[in-house]
Amino acid sequence: MKKLLFFLMLFFLTNFSFSQEKISGSMSSINQNLSMKKTNEYWKSKLSPEAFRILREKGTEYPHTGEYNLHFEKGTYRCKGCDEELFISDSKFESNCGWPSFDSSIEGKIRYEKDTSLGMIRTEIICNSCDGHLGHVFNDGPTSTGLRYCVNSVALDFDSNVE
Ligand SMILES: [Zn+2]
Repeated sequence: MKKLLFFLMLFFLTNFSFSQEKISGSMSSINQNLSMKKTNEYWKSKLSPEAFRILREKGTEYPHTGEYNLHFEKGTYRCKGCDEELFISDSKFESNCGWPSFDSSIEGKIRYEKDTSLGMIRTEIICNSCDGHLGHVFNDGPTSTGLRYCVNSVALDFDSNVE
């Protein structure tokens, strides 16, 4: 009898957790459809683990390690997530901060959000098209714009200008 009760309980418990999972699963896919139109599974299959960590989980690459940190060819930098053009090489400058730095972005391509993580108040920069996290923008730029877009190399792809 005790055994039967145990199996009955197990049955209800597993059934219960299954339906809970179904509910939260469909809720998160609704949220994803609203905010980024793509699932985490999609991004995991499209991006490298490091690009996923940065673009989709708001990570940061180690300073002075990125492919485009000391990269000054003429061309256009695109979003690694959705290929949207974000920055042109003319706006790139050497900031010595360890990440690719730009003094402006291509108009309308980037969204700004207040970021209070890590005990700091910063402005997060996000790709307007795919909601990918790119980095932060600061008000200490040395050029006339006064801005320093500090971007993770891993969040970018580069196209050389075709002459
Ligand atoms: Zn994007």
